[in-house]
Amino acid sequence: MCQQCDNESAVSDHQISKRNFLKTISVSGLAMAGLSTREVLAAVPKPDNVMTPEAAFARLMAGNERYATGASHPFDFQRDRAALVDGQNPYASIVSCADSRITPELCFDEQRGDLFVTRVAGNYVTADILPSLEFSAVVLGVPLIMVLGHQGCGAVVASIAATEKHQDFPGHIQTITTAIAPAVKATAKESGDRLANVTRKNVLLNVERLKHAAPLLSKLVAEKKLKIVGGVYNLSTGRVELLT
Ligand SMILES: [Zn+2]
Repeated sequence: MCQQCDNESAVSDHQISKRNFLKTISVSGLAMAGLSTREVLAAVPKPDNVMTPEAAFARLMAGNERYATGASHPFDFQRDRAALVDGQNPYASIVSCADSRITPELCFDEQRGDLFVTRVAGNYVTADILPSLEFSAVVLGVPLIMVLGHQGCGAVVASIAATEKHQDFPGHIQTITTAIAPAVKATAKESGDRLANVTRKNVLLNVERLKHAAPLLSKLVAEKKLKIVGGVYNLSTGRVELLT
């Protein structure tokens, strides 16, 4: 690329107007945020992570299978350290619970630079998590989002107690129980395991919220450039049960 062309394509982040930002979404992956060629190259330290939504989904679940069967790859912190200094191109975003027993990188047998992870107790989409996911999808080109609930979630237990038994929790904890309350109410008449039912419903409601999150995620989903799925992690087996 000639110097002039390079200069013309070099658009710094603060120069990206909202209109241009949205207009570029339909272009492709990492370039759609208006990054220059140089910036795009720097942002792809892991070429193997550039993939379709379906391929990303298959890779994520294959990693969980390795983890569940004790066949995880060993961590190599030296290998990608230099490459990851100038950029990142993870292939999947995870909305995980903050529970200490859930570790997405381990659960899906991935290394640094592979997963863009947001975490909050109860794995629901907050006003801060949504823009983080938009950033991962639009600026980093991540083609897959998984909302990941888990067996035995304390946040879900608390929300059931708060919603059905009017139990009060101190400080700001009530924020969590309120956020999960729609799943508690939606499953009130379901038979079976109450905790498991609410856990699954909470995942499904948040998957739907993300699929319809305008203007960015809903557009990428409609264009089939982004896949959004839900799953529940089984503490006993290490396997992720798919819900969508
Ligand atoms: Zn939890």
